[in-house]
Amino acid sequence: MKKVIFIFIGMSFILQFYENQKLKQEFLNCPYYVEQNLKDYMDYFKKNRFLSLEDIVLKVNVELDISFLEKEANLQDGNLILVNKYHFLKSDYVPDLVLMDVRYSYEQKYAQREAYEHFISMAEAARLDGILIYNVSSYRSYDLQDKLYKEYSKKDLNVDTYSAKPGYSEHQTGLAFDINSIRDSFADTKEGLWLAKNAHIYGFILRYPKGKESITGYKYEPWHYRYVGVSVAQYIFENQITFEEYYAKFVL
Ligand SMILES: [Zn+2]
Repeated sequence: MKKVIFIFIGMSFILQFYENQKLKQEFLNCPYYVEQNLKDYMDYFKKNRFLSLEDIVLKVNVELDISFLEKEANLQDGNLILVNKYHFLKSDYVPDLVLMDVRYSYEQKYAQREAYEHFISMAEAARLDGILIYNVSSYRSYDLQDKLYKEYSKKDLNVDTYSAKPGYSEHQTGLAFDINSIRDSFADTKEGLWLAKNAHIYGFILRYPKGKESITGYKYEPWHYRYVGVSVAQYIFENQITFEEYYAKFVL
């Protein structure tokens, strides 16, 4: 009887071994596979079998698997700083800001210097095409975000799908701009279409694209553009990836 049990245990080990080998091979074929993350992919897979392997690779790469371990955004990343639900800015972080001219912004708003220069180039190019684009919300301080988040939370339990907690808003970097209108219908306006087609030429990306909610953590926002610099924006646009995916592959 003992012998049978040993054989049975031995067999399950062998099966387990082959299953793991097969899984490793499948991970290896996923885009954005990173060798040193393999153990984390395997562990995350065991806890989240409903996810596709590709999704698992992405989530582990951008550290969404360890969401309870939130960490401070890396200020050394410059224009490529990642601020999202898991990477935050301290309350005293203030970028190099300039006041936007009212030709480019609704009300007096501040933006990060380099991002603003590119915003001007983009707005001027749009104007030549007969398109009027202007900022409605750019830099937001920690305190302002705190106020906004509290206001939204009072009225809406789903607040986290569209608004960030203070410290977790990309607007605190001064690199993000909400353009013209924060309505879903903006996507189909001629201004929304122009931006979707041309923003990357000026160094901006559509930060929260449709269908990528599980990676970015936010619903589709056709109005929210983020400055990352021209070559990076070009790459993200051509490869149709999110900033999280770019960051995991090239910056991390
Ligand atoms: Zn925004």
